[in-house]
Amino acid sequence: MKPLDIPVPEHGTLTQLADDLYWARFALPFRLNHINLYVLDTPDGWCLIDTGVNDKVTADHWQALLSGPLAHQPVSSILVTHHHVDHIGYAGALSAITGAPVFASDEEAKHGHWLYNLAPEAFGAIMARTYQRYDLPPETVQRVAANGSRFRANASPIPNCLEIKAGDRIKTRAGVWQARIDKGHSDAQISLMDAERNLFLSVDFLLPRISPNISADIRNPDLDLLSYYFTYLEEMTALPADMSIFPGHDWPFCEGGKRAAALIDHHHMRLNQLEEAAKTQPLTVTSAMDVLFGRSFGDHELYFASGESRAHLTHLVTTNRLTVTQTDTGVDLYEAV
Ligand SMILES: [Zn+2]
Repeated sequence: MKPLDIPVPEHGTLTQLADDLYWARFALPFRLNHINLYVLDTPDGWCLIDTGVNDKVTADHWQALLSGPLAHQPVSSILVTHHHVDHIGYAGALSAITGAPVFASDEEAKHGHWLYNLAPEAFGAIMARTYQRYDLPPETVQRVAANGSRFRANASPIPNCLEIKAGDRIKTRAGVWQARIDKGHSDAQISLMDAERNLFLSVDFLLPRISPNISADIRNPDLDLLSYYFTYLEEMTALPADMSIFPGHDWPFCEGGKRAAALIDHHHMRLNQLEEAAKTQPLTVTSAMDVLFGRSFGDHELYFASGESRAHLTHLVTTNRLTVTQTDTGVDLYEAV
């Protein structure tokens, strides 16, 4: 994996990446403190790709772009790549400001609507039950129940979305971007590739520095998302080394095939660590988190760390390397085969 030597765009500015592609960097109020957003120049106007969270920093940043470098033509569409709040959070507000329709894959739009429409108490109850199954301490379970919806806190109302399907094409002033849909880091993320020009908007599925979070889905924690992600990564190992890759976080890079191979190794290493640890004593999600990370987390990171641990345990169960049972107190217990 090699970073491309491209300057990070400053607040209110865009960095041009190709004849039809621009990059903006927005601040996020999380430990992962920024997101990369992209803009395509199409014959109908700008196609904005992802939106940031619903807060004042994001609103000010969009205002600066819309009245600055984007001012000379209309916004014709907004494409939300997946339902994570840093990508979809400002979509409703941005659509209201620009009048542009929002596009998403069907599954991601449904997930976004489900999360937004869930009452805070209902969200808290689902999280509390999830954390109880994970064997997190009672005070953490109670806190998460009382905290309500971490999604709603960062999102404007999710708009009705027009559907994008795998294989759909976006024609720009300089090329044609083809949509693909993948499952792993989320349900059905849209990424865009212009194979002819060797350009790939990978968004959150292929990142240059951090391993994309593979988290158990709180709607269906037994779904083996890691299996889907392995399928994606295997395919990505064949990316041309000189293809420019534009991710949702950090910086543009090339040698994406090497990066995909490294991520495959990373997940296998974690799976092996957990399988070994389970031979000594049965694991819960909480003890698996200790094995993998060996440190404690604040509430925001705990969601990702526990979900990541659960996703790896689930994969070990579906590949018959561990078994899972529930204790009398409703905790999931993973044992060596
Ligand atoms: Zn994401």
